[in-house]
Amino acid sequence: MATNERCLFCRIACGEITAKIVFEDDIVVAFNDINPQAPTHVLVVPRTHISTLDDLDEEEANVVGMTIVRASQIARNLQLNSEGYRLVVNHGEAAGQTVFHIHVHLLGGRNFGWPPG
Ligand code: AMP
Ligand code: ZN
Repeated sequence: MATNERCLFCRIACGEITAKIVFEDDIVVAFNDINPQAPTHVLVVPRTHISTLDDLDEEEANVVGMTIVRASQIARNLQLNSEGYRLVVNHGEAAGQTVFHIHVHLLGGRNFGWPPG
């Protein structure tokens, strides 16, 4: 499984850096965002190091698909599914990507505006 030893989220995924983990299996690790933007703000991170959405190919379809599946299951477990929640993936500078290991933000517990800021 591809990891990058200098990458923050790879280091969290292997336990080298501590995070408040809410779910993990062999495909993803999910933990609370250190700077939450909603009452629930979980990052769902594939264990495989993929820097950005621009690095995706069909080969990554399963891991990326499972990341969304896991995000939806975590949302259901946290009982966010009936009220509603938002999944966000930022790409690049304009969207505010700061960690270059792809991740899905699971945001819930408040109302969200549309269009997003
Ligand atoms: P993005 O801006 O989409 O790349 O999201 C990166 C997210 O990682 C931000 O919401 C940060 O608050 C979050 N973050 C950065 N460092 C940590 C950390 N050590 N533990 C948990 N979340 C982090
Ligand atoms: Zn990484």
